[in-house]
Amino acid sequence: MNPERKTEFQVIEKMYWSCVNQDHRHRTYETAMECIKETLRPKTIQKRWDKDQLIAFLEDRNNGKTIAQLARDNGMSNTNMFRLLNKAQKYLGAPEGE
Ligand SMILES: [Zn+2]
Repeated sequence: MNPERKTEFQVIEKMYWSCVNQDHRHRTYETAMECIKETLRPKTIQKRWDKDQLIAFLEDRNNGKTIAQLARDNGMSNTNMFRLLNKAQKYLGAPEGE
């Protein structure tokens, strides 16, 4: 009788801690918790506004919306909204570059 090459299927159970990212396999509860906290932490995102959005902001402003309202609606600080409106005015007031 000759040896025969065989394969067998093995199921390996590996314990890990899951987080919000399905690709992650955290070894400890603590690191998974850190990961979740980090993911859910509100980030200050520097948004890029396209021309249509800027026009909409200026229109809202002309229609009587306050900077505070616009800021709140778009999750920005009053200061940033004010700056954005200023930029928008300059940008839209400038002649088309294309
Ligand atoms: Zn994770």
